[in-house]
Amino acid sequence: MNKPSAPRLALIAHDHKKDSMLALASEFLPLLQACRLMATGTTGRRLRNELGLEVECMLSGPLGGDLQIGARLAVGEVDAVVFLRDPMTPQPHEPDINALVRACDVHDVPCATNLSGARLLLRALVALPTQV
Ligand code: PGA
Repeated sequence: MNKPSAPRLALIAHDHKKDSMLALASEFLPLLQACRLMATGTTGRRLRNELGLEVECMLSGPLGGDLQIGARLAVGEVDAVVFLRDPMTPQPHEPDINALVRACDVHDVPCATNLSGARLLLRALVALPTQV
């Protein structure tokens, strides 16, 4: 991946939100193509296979992928997070989810957890002078 100054964006979607993540990514495809992307396993593979995006895939969320992203974020390797959470379904890895969102707050990294917030965040990235 050769985009040294591109924003580093982490993408995570719970199962019922994965189609929304794919639609969102299609909507912002030129931006995402210009970013350095990381994602939890299943989300990342869908982005890669269905949209052709270059994505660094972590473990699947329930197997520790959220924690991997949180660890990268804690050392300054993530600039923004889009985390489409499913508020209607209990998740086995709820502690990991909370840890990632907490890490965003601790390190003041923007984190959108629903579609409207994600659109605002991605529009802000589009507007950055370093972008595209
Ligand atoms: P997944 O993980 O992309 O591997 O499904 C997301 C999550 O459940 O946190």
